[in-house]
Parts: sequence; C-alpha cells; structure tokens
Amino acid sequence: MTNTLSLNNVTKIYRRGLPNQITVLDQVNLEVKKGEVVGLIAPSGAGKSTLLHISGLLDNSDNGQVIINGIDYNNLDDKKRTKCRRQDIGFIYQFHHLLPEFSAIENLTLPQLANGTRSSDAKQRSMELLKSVNLQDRAFHRPDELSGGEQQRVAFCRAMVNSPKLLLADEPTGNLDPDTAMIVFNLLMELVRNTGMSAVIATHNYELSKLMDRQLALRKGKLVEV
Ligand code: ADP
Repeated sequence: MTNTLSLNNVTKIYRRGLPNQITVLDQVNLEVKKGEVVGLIAPSGAGKSTLLHISGLLDNSDNGQVIINGIDYNNLDDKKRTKCRRQDIGFIYQFHHLLPEFSAIENLTLPQLANGTRSSDAKQRSMELLKSVNLQDRAFHRPDELSGGEQQRVAFCRAMVNSPKLLLADEPTGNLDPDTAMIVFNLLMELVRNTGMSAVIATHNYELSKLMDRQLALRKGKLVEV
C-alpha cells in the first residue's frame, strides 16, 4: 500500500555564512502509513518545524524526495504543490491562527468555500466538526471570545474541514496548561482516529506522545526510534 508520506534522504542546511552553516536534517528517512500517527519528540531547536514544513511542502529541502500519496513533489511546480497543500494536508500550529474578525463557524466554512464546497454543505460540516469537539454552543463566537483550549479545538477542526489525508501538527497543545493540554490532545487524537488520516505530531511532551502509534526523536539531524 502507498504510504501517505515518505521522506527519502531529506537534507536541509541553513547557511548563515559558511562557518555557521547548520545541517538541521541530515539524510532523513520517514515513512508514514495510511492511518498511522507518528509522534516527533525533540527539544526546541532540533528541527521539528523544519521537518514539518518540508513534509507539508511549505519549504524545500536541499536534497532528497518528499512523496505524498505516491506523488514525488520535488520536481513539481508551485501550482501543484499548493493544490496538494490545500486538499491533502491539514496544519495545526502551537498558536491557533484563526481569523480574528470571523466566528468559529466562519473560520471553518471559509476554507471549504475556497475549495469549491457549496455553502450549505460547508456550514453543515463545520457544525458537525464543532460538535465533535463539544463546541456547538460556541459556534458564533469570535476567537477572542473563546478560551485558549477552545481556540485550539476550533483550529483542529479547521485543519480537518477539507478532509486531508495527512495532518501535520507543530506543538498543537504547547500553549495550554497541562490539564487542558491532555483533554484537548485526547480530542485531537479522537478526531484523527475517526477520520483514519495519517499524522505527524511534534511535541516535547512524552506523556502525550504515548497516545501515538510510534515515537521518533530528532537528534543531530537524524530521526531515531524512541
Ligand atoms: P524546532 O521546531 O525543533 O524548534 P526549527 O526547525 O525551528 O526547530 O529550527 C532548527 C534549527 O534551525 C534552529 O537552530 C534554528 O535556529 C535554525 N533555523 C530555523 N529556520 C532557519 C532559517 N530560516 N535560517 C537559518 N536558521 C534557521
């Protein structure tokens, strides 16, 4: 079966003047199967965001291949990469990045309209997703009227609205207190498992990473099993 994501020998070097060049990813290989949830555990600065950005076609590697659903995106143009990002990949960041002037339901509906979904279908799907994270009563509130945990739950839903096959999450509960983080993270895992999507979730919380299928660490530019 085709992997949802494969990284083959991916290398990324940041050059800040030659003596200071750093190899953040050093011939990294990763295979994420359909429905598999992989935890990426590493301290700040180890290269988690770099790996997620390259996997999500937001950045280019210096070497190696990024293959999503069997398609090698390295030699494809920006239009095809953007299409893949929009249709096949969901992103979640530490901060919610919701549009502040729009309500929770509008934040979920807009990306669907941009993807060609009919307005009534988009609204219905948005409400179903909000229900699944127990936020149906907060649908018409703007982000600044929601708590941190609620904002992040809306951001999870937004990442899922277009039914991506791959979820990439960068410290999705990193801004929350430990108790809220655990509750919200469990909801995220439920959403991911229910849809059967694949996911790579970066966290430095080892407790949370135990909920995933396997855990990898980034050490000196290499991915290693934990
Ligand atoms: P993490 O997400 O694990 O905190 P990052 O992927 O953000 O790590 O960064 C890994 C390393 O690469 C850090 O040392 C960071 O300073 C460096 N880095 C990240 N982005 C750039 C950039 N655009 N230019 C130069 N160095 C960068």
